[in-house]
Amino acid sequence: PKLVYDFAEGNKDMKELLGGKGANLAEMTNLDLPVPPGFTISTEACKVFLATGSVPPELADEIDHHVDSLQQKLGKKLGQADDPLLVSVRSGAAASMPGMMETVLNVGLNDDSVNGLAHQSGNPRFAWDAYRRLIQMFGKTVLDMDGDVFEDAIEAAKKAKGTNNDLDLDADDLKALVETFKAAVQEHTGREFPQDPREQMDLAIEAVFGSWNAERAVLYRRQERIATDLGTAVNICSMVFGNLGMDSGTGVAFTRDPSSGQPGVYGDYLQNAQGEDVVAGIRNTVPLAELEQLDKTSYDDLMAIMAKLEGHYRDLCDIEFTVERGKLWMLQTRVGKRTAGAAFRIATSLIDEGMIDIDEALRRVKGAQLAQLMFPRFDSDAETDLVTKAIGASPGAASGKVVFTSAAAVEAADRGEKVILVRRETNPDDLHGMIAAQGILTSRGGKTSHAAVVARGMGKTCVCGAEELDVEVAAGKILVNGTTINAGDVISIDGTTGEVFLGEVPVVPSPVVQYFEGSLAPDAGDELVAAVHRLITHADEIRRLGVRTNADTADDASRARRFGAEGIGLCRTEHMFLGERREAVERLILADDAEEREAALAELEPLQRGDFLELLTAMDGLPVTIRLIDPPLHEFLPSMEELAVKVAIAEERGEDPGRNKTLLAAVERLHEQNPMLGLRGVRLGLVVPGLFAMQVRAIASAAAELRKQGKDPRPEIMIPLVGAVQELQLARDEVNAVLAEVDRSTEADGSRGVEWKTPIGTMIELPRAAVIADQIAEAADFFSFGTNDLTQTTWGFSRDDVEGAFFSRYLEKGIFAVSPFESIDREGVGALVRTGAERGRAAKPDLKLGICGEHGGDPDSIHFFHEVGLDYVSCSPFRIPVARLEAGRATL
Ligand code: ADP
Ligand code: MG
Ligand code: MG
Repeated sequence: PKLVYDFAEGNKDMKELLGGKGANLAEMTNLDLPVPPGFTISTEACKVFLATGSVPPELADEIDHHVDSLQQKLGKKLGQADDPLLVSVRSGAAASMPGMMETVLNVGLNDDSVNGLAHQSGNPRFAWDAYRRLIQMFGKTVLDMDGDVFEDAIEAAKKAKGTNNDLDLDADDLKALVETFKAAVQEHTGREFPQDPREQMDLAIEAVFGSWNAERAVLYRRQERIATDLGTAVNICSMVFGNLGMDSGTGVAFTRDPSSGQPGVYGDYLQNAQGEDVVAGIRNTVPLAELEQLDKTSYDDLMAIMAKLEGHYRDLCDIEFTVERGKLWMLQTRVGKRTAGAAFRIATSLIDEGMIDIDEALRRVKGAQLAQLMFPRFDSDAETDLVTKAIGASPGAASGKVVFTSAAAVEAADRGEKVILVRRETNPDDLHGMIAAQGILTSRGGKTSHAAVVARGMGKTCVCGAEELDVEVAAGKILVNGTTINAGDVISIDGTTGEVFLGEVPVVPSPVVQYFEGSLAPDAGDELVAAVHRLITHADEIRRLGVRTNADTADDASRARRFGAEGIGLCRTEHMFLGERREAVERLILADDAEEREAALAELEPLQRGDFLELLTAMDGLPVTIRLIDPPLHEFLPSMEELAVKVAIAEERGEDPGRNKTLLAAVERLHEQNPMLGLRGVRLGLVVPGLFAMQVRAIASAAAELRKQGKDPRPEIMIPLVGAVQELQLARDEVNAVLAEVDRSTEADGSRGVEWKTPIGTMIELPRAAVIADQIAEAADFFSFGTNDLTQTTWGFSRDDVEGAFFSRYLEKGIFAVSPFESIDREGVGALVRTGAERGRAAKPDLKLGICGEHGGDPDSIHFFHEVGLDYVSCSPFRIPVARLEAGRATL
C-alpha cells in the first residue's frame, strides 16, 4: 500500500490516514493557498513502526521518490552545499494534540550547508540561528536530551552579551552556540551531530513515530479519551523562514475569538522569529492587528485567506503562518478549539450567516460544554482584592492555593486541596499539574500560548500573560505591585475577565443557570444565553428520549422541573428513614413481635406520607417513580464497632449497657459479609412484613389526598433488585392489595384514582433480570435500568471499594478508557441493557423503559440509551439541561 502522499494528493477528510495537519495542509494546497510544498507519511507507516520497532522496508524508496520531486520543484537539493533544501519534520495525528508530539525544523543543515545558506540568503545570522535551532530541536526530540542544556547555554550567551533579548545575539554568538550545542550532543550520545540530511530526516521521522507513546502524549489521550492505537502521520514540509529579518515573522491567528466566539481578527505575531517562538513566549508578541502596519500586503493576504478558510470549513479556523521577506505562507490550519461559550455563540452565528443549518449547529455543541457554562461565576458585588488584570484565556471562576510546580499541584490535589498552578509559562510537561489544578495562571504568553490552548481544550480556567506578576518559582513566591504572594496563599482567577484576586471570592450562579432557573429571559440581551436557548429549544423539538430527574426532596424536584425535567425517574425512599426517624427504624428492626413492628411502622407512615405529599405536589401532573426501600437495614443502625466499644466499656464499669446491648445483638445478627449482595431490595420487602405495605400506603394516601385537593399526582411504584419474576409477582400482589385498600377507603370522598392507575414496575439491575426480562415484563408496567448496580453486578466489583483502589491503574493500563461508572460500558453492561429492553418489549410492546443510574446524565451513555430505544433517562437536577441537549443531538 501507498505510504507517502504529496500535499496535492490529500484532502481534509483523510485525517485518519494523513493526520489532521497533513489532511488540512493538503486541503489548503488544493485550495491554491500558499503552502510550502511537501508530503505526508501516513499513519499506516507509524502503526507498523509501533508494532515492529522499525519503519516498513518500502518506506525509504517512497520517501526518496517524493524528496526527488520536491527537489525538482524547488530547484535545490537536500544537503546541497551552496543552497540547501531544508524541511521541517512535523508530527500530526488525526485528533489534534496541542504540544504533544514533536516537530523538528531546519532539517538538512550541516557544517557545510550552513555556510551556503548564509551566503545564499545574505544573512549569516539567520543561517546560524537556523542551525542552532536544528541541533536544539533535534537534541531534545530525537536524541532525548534535556532541553535545559540548550536553554542554559543560550541564557549564558545572552548574559555574556549583557542582554536578555535573543535578537541581540549576532552571527558569531550563534556560531559559538552551535559549537557548544554540538559538543553537548557529542557528550550525550557519544557521536557527532549527524551531518547527513537524509539521516537527520529518517531519525526525526522515527522520533515523531516514537513520540506517540511519550508519557505526556499518553496522558493527554487518556484525558481527552483519544484512542491509543491511531498513530501519527509525519509531514515533511519545505522550510520558509520567518527569521530572516524584521520584514519576516511568524504568527498564529483565529478567524473568530476562540474564547468569546465574537467575530474579528484574533492572533499574535512576532517579527524575525521562527516556529514555536510565538507560543513559547520568549519575546512578547504583538496583536495580529498590528501586522497591518508592519506589512500591509501580507496582512491583506492573510485576511482574504482567513475569510476563504472560514467559508470553506464553515467554522472557526485556527491558523499558523509565516511571512518570509514580505511573502505570506500558510503552515497549518484546522477547525479551532474554542471555549464552551464560544462554541454556542459560533454555532448560532454561523446559522445567521447562512453557513450552517440548525441541526449542524446542534451537532457542534456538546453537553459537556453546556455543563461548563453552568458553573458558578464570581459574585461581582463581592468585596474583592484585585491584584492584577491580564488575559482571560479560558473562562471559569477558580479559587485555590498557589502552587508553582506540576508536582506540587498533583500532591495537593491528592490531598483533596484546591490549587491554582502559577507558572511563567507552561510546557507539555506541566500537563499533570494542569489537570490537577482548579485553574492556571501564567505571567507570559497570550491567548495562543500553551497554557491557554491546553486549558481551553480541558475546560480549565486560565488567565495568562499576567506580566505584572514576578513569578519566582525557586523562592516559592510571586511579587506583584509591592505585594508578595507565597506558595499556599489562596487566590482567585477569573478566566473570562482575566482578573486575579487575593483570597477566595464568593461565587454566584452563571447566567445560563439563571436562564434555566427562569430568572433570566433568553432575549434579555445576553448573547450566550440566547444561543443556549436557541439550541436547547431545537434539541427539545427533535429528541425522542424523555428526560426525568433523580430527586428525593421537593426542593430538588422543583429545581429539576424548572430545568426541564419531565418527571422523577428515581426517588430513593431510604433518605426518608434518616435523621430523627432513625429511632423508629431501630424500633422496627428490634421489634420482637408483630405488635411492636406495626407500632414502629405506624410511626413511620405519616412521616413518609408527608414527604410524598411534598414531592408529588412539586411534580404535579408529571410521573414520579418512587422506589421502595432498597439498602440493607443495618445501614440504619449504628456501626458494630461503635456499639461493641460502648457495650464493653459499660460492662467493664459494671454498668448496664441497656439498649446498646440489644442494638449490638441486632447489628451482629444483621451483619453481612457482602451487604451489597445481601438482604436488600425486594428481598427485604418480602422478608420484613409490612415494610413495603407501609410505604405504598403512604404513597397511595398522599396521592388520594392531593386528588381531593384537585391536583394531579402521578406516582409510579418501583420494586428494586428483582432477579426472578416470582419476587416481583409477590411484591406486586402486596402493592396491589394496599392500593385497593386505600382506594376503597377513599372511594366515599371521591378522591379515588379513577383516571390514574398506579403503574408498578421494577428496576433492572441484576444481569439475571436483564436476561429474563421477557418473564419479568409480564409482571411489570415499566422497567428502569439501574445502571449503577447493574455495572457493579455485571463486573462483580463494588463501586465504593474499587474506584480508589485500582481504577487509576486500570485506566493507565488501558483496561478502561473511562470508568464504567461514569460512562456506560456498551459492550458488557450496555449489552445487558439492550437485551433487557428487547426481551421486555418482545413480551410487552407498551412496556415503558427508562434508566436511572449516574449514566443518565452522561452524554455518551445518553446516545447509547437513545440507540437502544429507551423512553427516558433520569439524572440529577443539574444534569437535566445536558441530558436534554444530548438527547436531541443523539437523533442527528
Ligand atoms: P505543532 O503541532 O506543535 O504546532 P508544527 O508541526 O505545527 O507543530 O510546528 C511547530 C512550529 O514550526 C509551528 O509554529 C509551525 O508553524 C512551524 N513550522 C513547521 N513547519 C514549518 C516550515 N516548513 N517552515 C516554517 N515554519 C514551520
Ligand atoms: Mg509543538
Ligand atoms: Mg502547529
